[in-house]
Amino acid sequence: MPEGGLLCVHAHPDDEVIATGGVLLRAAASGRPTAVVTCTGGELGEIVGEGMDPVAVRPRLAAVRRAELAEALRLLGAGEPRLLGYRDSGMAGTAGNDDPRSFWRAPFDEAVARLVAEIRAVRPEVVVTYDAHGLYGHPDHVQAHRVGIVAAEACAMAQLYPAAGPAWRVPKVYLATVPWSFTRFATASLARLGLPSPFADPADPGEAVVGVPDAWVGATVDVRDQVGRKLAALRAHASQVGPRSFFLNLPEDLHDAAYGTEWFLRHRSDVAVPDHEDDLFTGLPG
Ligand SMILES: [Zn+2]
Repeated sequence: MPEGGLLCVHAHPDDEVIATGGVLLRAAASGRPTAVVTCTGGELGEIVGEGMDPVAVRPRLAAVRRAELAEALRLLGAGEPRLLGYRDSGMAGTAGNDDPRSFWRAPFDEAVARLVAEIRAVRPEVVVTYDAHGLYGHPDHVQAHRVGIVAAEACAMAQLYPAAGPAWRVPKVYLATVPWSFTRFATASLARLGLPSPFADPADPGEAVVGVPDAWVGATVDVRDQVGRKLAALRAHASQVGPRSFFLNLPEDLHDAAYGTEWFLRHRSDVAVPDHEDDLFTGLPG
């Protein structure tokens, strides 16, 4: 794989499309190499695909989701799946959290070493993972943030994980997030349609449970040109998107906001950048 480009660290198959599909497509369209590391196989995902019998599919869901991920990555131009090899931990407070094979229970140093090996193999200019709440609090997303941030720093130090390949300094590191202005807009739009919002506290719809204050956002990337391709890649995750799927049934007036913009906190940049960037590659050569 050529050096440079974008590497996104995600928790489950399909997260790469929802949180970073647009920036992956934009980078690929401009000729930059792109890659996705997926920490778990998504074994505990809800099976909602049209015509799929959840009981029959459940035992082979990992294989199904791996094939779906491969197809989504092909549509995104992001190469082959790179799986960290952990098991889906399930939503917070569920039994999956206690499975010793789960990402949530993974020995931290072992998980960091595995991700360092991927980053050193890809040698990206930009690494993206999630904000500290893992966007919405799922244990695997929170763990992806923790492991992602540490690996993105540790990979530069040859003294650390010498068996994981030659050291590589990642010049820019970002955390995928959403600003509260979006969560409020989405909550109000869904309320008009009588639909609950996944972004607000059901007990107090004015209270955002997803995202960060707008002022924290360091990069807002306009990916409206990529929405069609992004939705095609989302549909490739057929077991996860059914007729009642939230992401495929958003009201029309939310499409540009929900799919056409991707937001990031800037964790670190080695190159000079403006306070607010409109591209993750700002300041990098070519
Ligand atoms: Zn996820």
